[in-house]
Order: sequence, then structure tokens, then C-alpha cells
Amino acid sequence: MAQNNTDIKFLKGVGEVRAEKLKSVGIDTVGALLRFYPRAYIDFGKTVDILKAPYGENVCIRAKVISEVKEYRKRHGLVLYTFLASDGTASMEVVLFNQKYLAAKINRCSEYLFYGKVEGSMILRKMSSPEIMETGFSGIHPVYRSIKGLTSKNIEKLMKNALLSLDLPETLPQSIIEKNNLCDIKFATENIHFPKTEVSLERAKRRLVFEELFVLQTSLLLLKGKNYVLSGAKIEKDFKTEFLDLLPFKPTNAQSRVIDECVRDLMSGRKMSRLVQGDVGSGKTAVAAALCYIMAKNGYQSAFMAPTEILAAQHFNTLSKMLENSGVTCCLLTGSMTKKQKSDIKQSLKKGEIDIAVGTHALITDDVEFRRFGLAITDEQHRFGVQQRSKLSEKGENPHTLVMSATPIPRTLALILYGDLDISIIDEYPAGRQKIDTFCVDKSYHKRIYTYIKKHIDDGRQGYIVCPLVEESEQLDVTSAEEYFEKLRQDDFKGYSVGLLHGKMSPKLKDAVMLDFKQGKIQLLVSTTVVEVGVDVPNAVIMVIEDADRFGLSQLHQLRGRIGRGEFKSTCILVSDSKQKETRERLQVIVKNNDGFKIADEDLNLRGPGDFLGNRQHGLPELKIADLFADKKTLIDAGNQARELLKFDPRLKSLQNEPLRKEIINMYKKFVQN
Ligand code: ADP
Ligand code: MG
Repeated sequence: MAQNNTDIKFLKGVGEVRAEKLKSVGIDTVGALLRFYPRAYIDFGKTVDILKAPYGENVCIRAKVISEVKEYRKRHGLVLYTFLASDGTASMEVVLFNQKYLAAKINRCSEYLFYGKVEGSMILRKMSSPEIMETGFSGIHPVYRSIKGLTSKNIEKLMKNALLSLDLPETLPQSIIEKNNLCDIKFATENIHFPKTEVSLERAKRRLVFEELFVLQTSLLLLKGKNYVLSGAKIEKDFKTEFLDLLPFKPTNAQSRVIDECVRDLMSGRKMSRLVQGDVGSGKTAVAAALCYIMAKNGYQSAFMAPTEILAAQHFNTLSKMLENSGVTCCLLTGSMTKKQKSDIKQSLKKGEIDIAVGTHALITDDVEFRRFGLAITDEQHRFGVQQRSKLSEKGENPHTLVMSATPIPRTLALILYGDLDISIIDEYPAGRQKIDTFCVDKSYHKRIYTYIKKHIDDGRQGYIVCPLVEESEQLDVTSAEEYFEKLRQDDFKGYSVGLLHGKMSPKLKDAVMLDFKQGKIQLLVSTTVVEVGVDVPNAVIMVIEDADRFGLSQLHQLRGRIGRGEFKSTCILVSDSKQKETRERLQVIVKNNDGFKIADEDLNLRGPGDFLGNRQHGLPELKIADLFADKKTLIDAGNQARELLKFDPRLKSLQNEPLRKEIINMYKKFVQN
């Protein structure tokens, strides 16, 4: 009998060569093979007539071959095999690519089952690369993604061998199975590969989805538990009310709640590791300020790190103003300051004379030292690498850490992506915030848009025009921004003060331009997407986004967050000539929604988690069957039950949880070690 962890090369039908192929895609054991799930199923019991087959949808057709198989040699070694098949209602041309062996087995006048998409025209229907089966075939069959030349059928055969040779041990605790009315692992595995009926397939799927999300979340919780270390900066007293008296406004309920959540961590004796997520404009800075203040009052220093000089300066100004007469002191440390300025500040920090250091990357240079460092805050965390973040934390002994993010990641995804952090969400905007009116128009509106902008500039307001993204090339983006800028400056906006901002400019120059814009010296800012991050210019009320269809939804939302930050009604205009239905729908999501989380949710729905996460997917284990969007409810259920289980058995040491613990070690070893 094979075991789950039996090397795949020992499975009947595998051998060294196939084992290498399978291992190259991560299938190194028999257990792992069984977790390679079909990407689709073919029900050979249900056939349709060629005449009635809907175009472009997978269908199963029973038809007779009515011609010889013809061979065409194309360029680059490509060989096409074609033949005609008819079922009496109509005929279709079947095309095979390089499938020499399959082509050789096709007999004229024999009947086969063809599974694939009918395409082409009414005159010549076509089916390319169908699955072809003998007519005796029936029932539901799995279709697998092919692996390095191993076809779906090859894999199907191996799956059968694996199921025969392996006695599958149950992984989930019995209590979880009963509570959720799940089928056992044996039934689930058999039926996910070879479903007896559609109902049993559904039942198998439900169990495996639950299991995957449950095991994943249990591992993350275990990991988090491991991260619970004591902090040297336990605070004794909560100075929240005192701080709120310093705030120039009343905090929103969400701000207040998030401050409480953090304070609870700070007082717990354990190190805080928390992510604060809040849409653009939800007021994250005030939360950061509160915590810095509370730490200071308890005798600890804090650092507040921002990704750009302009943002750091903005935070510094906000904090200094708030803390003016409070006795809590604050300084700014950035790369562009003079050597003397920097060294003075470093001296004071080291002596503990300053409570709060606001700054850029300059804060993490080696010679920055603190006397009693207690809290490291990183703003717009996605702009920093994990290493930079941890470097800031190394300035003290297990200081509390807080990362702040406006990248609206759907709640469900955040649970997984930031599994090692606790999460607080600011899900409310300050009162009186005006809804940003958003429109989507085509390019014929340009003149009208310019007139509209000029009218507002004449009233003393400011605006942004964001240039289109060009084919993944930053250089081209810059060129297009420069050209557009020149055109506007010399033509449509002659006599106005127009500025240009793009990523290839030096940080110093960028900051200078942003400062001019902030101070109102620039009336219209033409920019690439660099303007995306956290800058607060309440006087800017218009944002035009050119070729808006080229941007992701979340990015559009981030960009739009640059306006609508003050007392003035703001307008966002998306310009797009795209006629595609899906594109129009995508842009309508932005037009209709102002809530970043809702938009992120829609974005996830439209694009799927892989694309949504893109490169940010670092360290996230691949999900094999669960879909974070479609299975959202299961994700939450499974998470709750994982927490429940760990409450009673925090390290999964009990006998009944032993298989689960093994499974976790097995599935997530790589992930957990990182
Ligand atoms: P973000 O979450 O995008 O970092 P900020 O902290 O920059 O948001 O806050 C955006 C604007 O809202 C700032 O001008 C800030 O002063 C203001 N603000 C924040 N909280 C409140 C509140 N509770 N009431 C009124 N205005 C607020
Ligand atoms: Mg901010």
C-alpha cells in the first residue's frame, strides 16, 4: 500500500522520466498527485447534435468520420491533421495539432465521441483539438491540465492507480466533519476525480474547498501564534482621551475603534503586529498620531515612515500641529536634509530627547538609533519591501509594529495575504466628506473637459490629468506624459501654470513639483501614476484619467482618491474610447462606487485572485480548488472554526487533531519556513 507521502516515482505507471515531469510541477508524492484536481469534466453521457451545438461552448458530439485523415505540414514543425465528421444533422471539420498517434487511430466510417468547442462558420463548422473517445464511453470524466507532455488521459490513468494503491487517511477532525456535514476524504477524493453523479461531485467539491480553506487558515493562525512574542514596550496607561482633545476634529467611530484595538495590543504585554487598512481619505494618519502620542506619554519613542519625502513632510506638519502644546515632541528626518541637520536629529533621537521621528527611508539607515524605541509605523506599506519594514523594527527590542495600507484588498484576501498580522479596518469616512462625482466619456469630449477644468482653475481650484499607461513600458509612459504636457501647456492651457510629474524624475525634483502643486503654484498637474500615493491637496477638485480602460479598477480608485479631500465638490472624469462591453462594465464599477473595498471585491471577481494579486502574491500558497471570491462564505466559516479549534488545542497536540497537524506540516512546510 502506498502512503500519502510515498515518492511519486513508485506509483504504478510513473517511473523515473514521468516522475521528473511530475516533480517539476510540484507533484512529488502520491498524495500530491491526488490533489491535482481536474480542470473540467466531460459528461460523455450527454451528447448534442452538431446542428444544434452552441458556438464556442464545450459540448460532446457523437459523430462518424466521413473522410480520410489529411496531414498538413506547417512552418516550425507544426503538423495539422484534419478530417470530417458527421452525425446526420450536420458535419464538422476536426483539427488535431501534432497529435500523430491520435490521428493514426482514427478510422474512416467509425463513430467517436468528440468533446470540444464547435467554432468556424455555418458553412464549415470546426472543432479543434477535441477529446476523442470510443463510443462505448459514458459517464463523467475528468479533464486535467496536461503536464509536460503527459496528456489528460495519461494523468487520468495515474489517478486511477493512485486511488487503488492508497488508503487515504482522514485529515479533518471528526467534529469538524460532522458539524459541517462533510463527506469523508476517501469519498471526496474518488469523486473529485471520477464523480459517480453530479451530486457526488458537488459533495466532494464542497468538502475539499472547505478543507483547503480550513487547513490554510489553521496554519496561518498557528504561524501567528508563533509570532506572539513579548514586547519590551508594554504600556501601562491609555492616554486616548487626552489625545482626542488635541485632534482638530472628532474622530470617526471607525478611527476610534481602531485606536482601541491597537491600544489593547500595546497594553497586552505582547508585541503588536497589526495592519490598518483604510480607504484613501479614511483618516489613517490620525490613528498613527494617536499611537505615537500614547507611546510617548508612556515613555517610548516611535518612528513613522512614509515612502516619499513629500508624504513624510506632510505627516510631520500634521503631527507637529496636533502636538504643538502637548509636550510630545516630533522631528522630521529625510534624505534631502543637510548632513548637519541629520546628525543633530540623530543625536537627539539617540539621547531620547525626541518622542516621534517622522521620515522616509532615511529612518532605517544604520546610524539612526533610539533610546527607548517602542513603535514602528509604516505608511503605504505596499511601497516598502518586507525587509525595509523589519529593518525599522530592528531599531528596538521587539517594538510594536503597525503597517498602514490604502490598497483596498478585499477582506477575504487580506485574511490570507496578511495572515501573520492582525487586521484593523477603518470602514468609515469622516463626516461631511463629499461624494466624488465620476463620469465616463469618450475622447470627443476633450475640449469640453478642458473648458470645465479652466472654469474651476479660474475659481481658484486645481486639477490633475493622469496620462495613459503605455504598453508596460515606463519609458513610453514618460514620453507620452511629456508630449501631452507640452501640448497642453502650449495650446489648450496657454497662460495657465501647468506642471509635469513622472517616475523618471529624481525624487528631489518630484518633491519640488508636488510642493509647488501643494502650494498652489501649479494649477494643473499632468502626471503618470506616480501621483497615486497619499498626497493631500484639498484644493485639487478635478481628476481626468486618460485611456482609463488601461488601468486596473483598484488603481483608478487610488488615483481618484487624490481629489475630494476638502470642502469642495470634486469630479473625476474617466476618458475611454473602448467599445468593449466588459471594459465599459468595468469602468461603470468606478462610476457607481466610491467604496474602495467594494471596488476591490468587484475587481477580484472580474479578474480572479491570480491577476488581482499579481506579483504581490509572495509567499501565498497556491489554492488548488477553492476560489477566494466564489467561496467567500466558506472562507469565513472555515476561519471561525479554525479559531475555535485552536482555542481548545492551540498547538494541535491532541490525538484527534494529529492528522490535521501532519497535513499542515505536509502542505505548508515551505510556506511556514519562510
Ligand atoms: P488617509 O487614510 O488616506 O491617509 P488622511 O489621514 O490623509 O487619510 O486623512 C484625509 C483627510 O481627512 C485629512 O485632511 C484629515 O485631516 C481629514 N480627517 C481625518 N480624520 C477626520 C475626521 N475624523 N473628521 C474630519 N476630518 C478628518
Ligand atoms: Mg495616508
